[in-house]
Amino acid sequence: MGSFHKVNVGEAELFALQDSWVTRDPGTFFAGVGRDAWDPYREWLDDDGLLVQNYGSFVIRSEGKTMLVDTGLGEAADRSVLKEPPSLLVNLERAGILTTDVNLVLFTHLHWDHTGWNTIGQDGALQLTFPNAQYVVQQKELDYWMSPGEKPANGPAFDRVVAPVMAADRLEVVGDDYIASGEVSAVPTPGHTPGHVSFRIASGGESAFILGDSVHKPVQLSEPGWYPGFDMDPVESTKSRRMILDRAERENALLAGGHFAFPSLGYAVTVDGKRTFRYVT
Ligand SMILES: [Zn+2]
Repeated sequence: MGSFHKVNVGEAELFALQDSWVTRDPGTFFAGVGRDAWDPYREWLDDDGLLVQNYGSFVIRSEGKTMLVDTGLGEAADRSVLKEPPSLLVNLERAGILTTDVNLVLFTHLHWDHTGWNTIGQDGALQLTFPNAQYVVQQKELDYWMSPGEKPANGPAFDRVVAPVMAADRLEVVGDDYIASGEVSAVPTPGHTPGHVSFRIASGGESAFILGDSVHKPVQLSEPGWYPGFDMDPVESTKSRRMILDRAERENALLAGGHFAFPSLGYAVTVDGKRTFRYVT
């Protein structure tokens, strides 16, 4: 369906890259939001009335650094429900980005569908997919997934995607105020998971926000109170969502949503007093 889409944010370059996609029943996606509630929002459903769920990553090129934000489903994902096999690495290549070019792998959070391509199997062993990169994770997020006790099933496949990065001494654990380059910084947007962050690019008077799962679908620009059942703290996730959307609209910032149908990039605009999303053209 998609492959990659490139835009400029001031001097920085931003690439949306598809890994794969699925369709979902819109009547069960958001907690307590039935099919009827979608009547005003048919534009976000496909011809069969289904919600497209993209799985996508972003690459930022800024000040000589190549940064990959989230690593998608990975080669070990269950392909039976996917519309296409996970293709992040193919799409990186199409975009002219080598896995060896990546200096930083940044995570919005550590769910399985954001960490899958951290490693690849080679010669019967797991290797780091991005051999020259530091993998950067928020302290709060790592602490949560490593703390004792029962965890939701959508966490990272720890032995496959986190342990090898730690063993190679490539995991960099950072705080809320993380700055990746003079143009790229973390913006805490907790709620979906405890240490969830978004990333802001600011360059040459322009800005963009990589939303992670703080905003899952374009319809949430109009209905910020709608949250998927897997938001761990819906009160906090809704607060984060409102905050980042307000800020983005104020800045006229580009929005990048990895689960928005490809190409996953657009703007918050207000039409007839209601906020909505417009894809880049
Ligand atoms: Zn996700």
